[in-house]
Amino acid sequence: MGHVSELRLCDPLVAAAREQLLAGESLSQEAGVRLFDAPMLELGRLANAVARDRHGDRAYFTVNRQLNPTNVCVLACRFCDYARKPGAPDAYTMTKEQVLSHVDPEISEIHIVGGLHHKWRFDDYLDVIRWVKAKKPSLSVKAYTAVEIDFFCRLTRKPADWVLTELRAAGLDALPGGGAEVFSERVRRELFPQKIGGRRWLEIHEIAHQLGIPSNATLLYGHIETRGERVQHLIDLRELERRAPGFLAFIPLAFQPGATGLVRRQASAIEDLKTIALSRLVFDNVPHVKGYWVMLGQDTAAASLNFGASDLDGTIGQEKIAHAALAKSPVGMAEAGMVQMIREAGKIPVQRDALYRVVREYGRRDEPAAASAA
Ligand code: SF4
Repeated sequence: MGHVSELRLCDPLVAAAREQLLAGESLSQEAGVRLFDAPMLELGRLANAVARDRHGDRAYFTVNRQLNPTNVCVLACRFCDYARKPGAPDAYTMTKEQVLSHVDPEISEIHIVGGLHHKWRFDDYLDVIRWVKAKKPSLSVKAYTAVEIDFFCRLTRKPADWVLTELRAAGLDALPGGGAEVFSERVRRELFPQKIGGRRWLEIHEIAHQLGIPSNATLLYGHIETRGERVQHLIDLRELERRAPGFLAFIPLAFQPGATGLVRRQASAIEDLKTIALSRLVFDNVPHVKGYWVMLGQDTAAASLNFGASDLDGTIGQEKIAHAALAKSPVGMAEAGMVQMIREAGKIPVQRDALYRVVREYGRRDEPAAASAA
C-alpha cells in the first residue's frame, strides 16, 4: 500500500484508521462512526491514498444510457418521487420503439431500472433486455434491482436463482445496486414497509454473485438514517463481498428531498464527501466507490475523486428517477464533459463498460488517446 504507507497524518483518529488498514484490519462500526467527526481533509487524504493504491490516478466513467421503461409501480415508497399509479396523467410505459431509441450507437452500457408494473409479466421484462441486446449485441446490460428481482420471483413463483438464470440467458450482464436504500429495519418500517428489506437484498446479490453475475451496491443517505446505520450498511456489504465476491462498485446516493417532505434540504457537500471517504475506508474490499454526479452535482462529484471515489458513473442520456425528485444536475453529459471533469480533478480519465473493461484511456491533458478497445 504505497500511498497509504507514505501518508503522514495529523489527526489521531484518522492516523489510527490508517494503522489498522496497513495491518490488514477492517474498521469497526464504532470506528467508522467516530471518523465522521474527523477533519474532512485528513479523512479525504486517507481515502484518496487507498483509492490510489488500487487504481493509481485513473478515474473511470462510461458512455451509457439510462433506460427507465415504466414509472408505473404497485408500491408507494415514501421517498420516491418517480413512481406513478396506473392511470395517473404522467404515468408512462414505453413501447418497443421507445426502448430501442435509447440504444445509441456510441454507448457501451445500458442501465435499466423502473417501476413494478401491475400488468407486466416476467416475459415483458425479459423482452426489454432481449430487444436492446438484439439491436447491439456488444452492449453490456446492467438491469433490474433486487427489488425488481424479488418482484419477478413473486410473479413467476420461482426462486431467485431461476429468475437470474433466465435474465442472464436473455442478455443480462450485471445487476445495478439500487433498492438497497439503508439496510436498517427501523428505516425500512418507516419509509418503505412494503418493499424488501436488507436481508432479502443481500440474499439476492449473494445468489447473483454465486451464479457469476457481478453487481453494484448503493446506500441512500441523507434522510432519516443515523450515521451508525450508514456505517453498518457498509459493513454488511463488506461481509457479503467476503462470503461471495462479485461487487464492482459501491455508490452512495445522496437523497434528493424533492416533494417527499422527509428532510428540508439535501445533505451538504461536506457530508457527501465524508460519506464517500468513509465508504472507501470501511467497505474496504469493493473495487470502486462512485461519485454519482447526477445526485451529487458535478462539482462535488469531481471533488469526490480526491476523497476516495474512482468512478463518476456515465454520460447517462435521459435520467428520469433522480430528476423526478428535482435533482439539479443536467439530464445527461457529453463524453467530453466527463473527461474534463476528471482532468480538472487531477485524474486520468478511463472510459469503461459495465464490467469495468477498458474502452479507452485518455491522457492526463489533451494528448492523444493512450489505449484502445477491450
Ligand atoms: S422506489 Fe421503486 S419500488 Fe418504491 S415506489 Fe419507487 S419505483 Fe416503486
